[in-house]
Amino acid sequence: MNIKLNAGREKSLLRRHPWIFASAIKQADSDLASGATVDLLSSDGQFLARASYSPISQIRARVWTFNDEPVDKEFFRRRIKSAIELRQMSKVDSHTNAYRLLHGESDGMPGFVVDRYKDLLVLQSTTAGSDFWKEIVADVLVEETGIQNIYERSDVDVRELEGLKPIAGILRGTIDDTSTGLSTSLRLTIDEYNLKFQVDIEHGHKTGFYLDQRHNRHRVGEFAEGRDVLNCFCYTGGFSIHALANGAKSVLSVDSSADALSLLEENITLNNLPAERHTCLEGDVFQLLRKFRDANRSFDMIILDPPKFAPTAAHAEKASRAYKDINLLAFKLLRHGGMLFTYSCSGGIDAALFQKIVASAALDAGVDATIIEHLSQGSDHPVSLHFPEGAYLKGLVCMKG
Ligand code: SAH
Repeated sequence: MNIKLNAGREKSLLRRHPWIFASAIKQADSDLASGATVDLLSSDGQFLARASYSPISQIRARVWTFNDEPVDKEFFRRRIKSAIELRQMSKVDSHTNAYRLLHGESDGMPGFVVDRYKDLLVLQSTTAGSDFWKEIVADVLVEETGIQNIYERSDVDVRELEGLKPIAGILRGTIDDTSTGLSTSLRLTIDEYNLKFQVDIEHGHKTGFYLDQRHNRHRVGEFAEGRDVLNCFCYTGGFSIHALANGAKSVLSVDSSADALSLLEENITLNNLPAERHTCLEGDVFQLLRKFRDANRSFDMIILDPPKFAPTAAHAEKASRAYKDINLLAFKLLRHGGMLFTYSCSGGIDAALFQKIVASAALDAGVDATIIEHLSQGSDHPVSLHFPEGAYLKGLVCMKG
């Protein structure tokens, strides 16, 4: 099965970027099935890479390998073994029992995300190619990790771009098995830097928890002592719990999701933290920040960890305005010497642009601020040098002068 590229369109593959867009294709064999493995050939017929075929998506093919090797169960075993070794090397499990085991393109496995929550794996498949190999990959995951239970959370919108329906449910094992520590509502408790978090595998965002922010939550904890903290877009309280556990004077947690806030309150109890120092507020951050400004409220530390405003560069302009808006308000609400932990997980906004947005927010707020740290996703979310899109999480720690 072959796909021949237009002249000149082999360039990105020669740089080892794993995506081929529809416009790059000169000619494809007519009987290609969704997710099938195809050889990508240059316009003069040279082998370039072996890839999965997505008949509907604008990203028409995603590379499995640049070598002339079979793509089969043993191929995926090699990829998964390397991914496991990388996590062992980076010692992510010295801080947690919940981490990303497979991070798509950056682990040579486009379309696959696999997160480990103790003795349970949560798999997300987002492309025709990953759906095609899902069962084989699930078998290899069980064989190589020794973990028997896999839950699938392939219920994400991006699947629509591939013409795939949302799927969620048990993929391997018996999830009510007591060995996973799961209750019937598919909840489990994980550890992160000696703190405990309830994770709702079935209904939680992503695969249940924002594993990518682990290190950044720890950093917040290290600066939180004695501070009045405002945690915006708090979800189940990751940053709030770290702040409270490390001596924050008060923490105000804001989110629009009542379910997330109720898990947050459980997390406070679970960690025996002083509930009297914490307040939950359900609402819209954009409105509440304005309300706080009008009421002359102020804080010593503000965390802004909003959802993805710009999934792609096409949304960058509108997203830039939203980032600027909340960062500007946050700078106003900060006391002198206050700290802003501000993040963007938007693929469409790169680190340089994000820094410019935050700088222009400070300027318009009329404050001087200094970046004391650049933050990113944890080492269990590696970034292939050939796939810069993998570096999606940007964070700045700013000190207000
Ligand atoms: N910081 C969290 C993850 C935040 S995810 C952690 O470390 O776990 C983003 C959160 O923003 C989600 O919980 C979502 O419910 C919430 N959210 C999205 N739009 C919002 C809005 N306009 N106002 C308040 N919360 C919002």
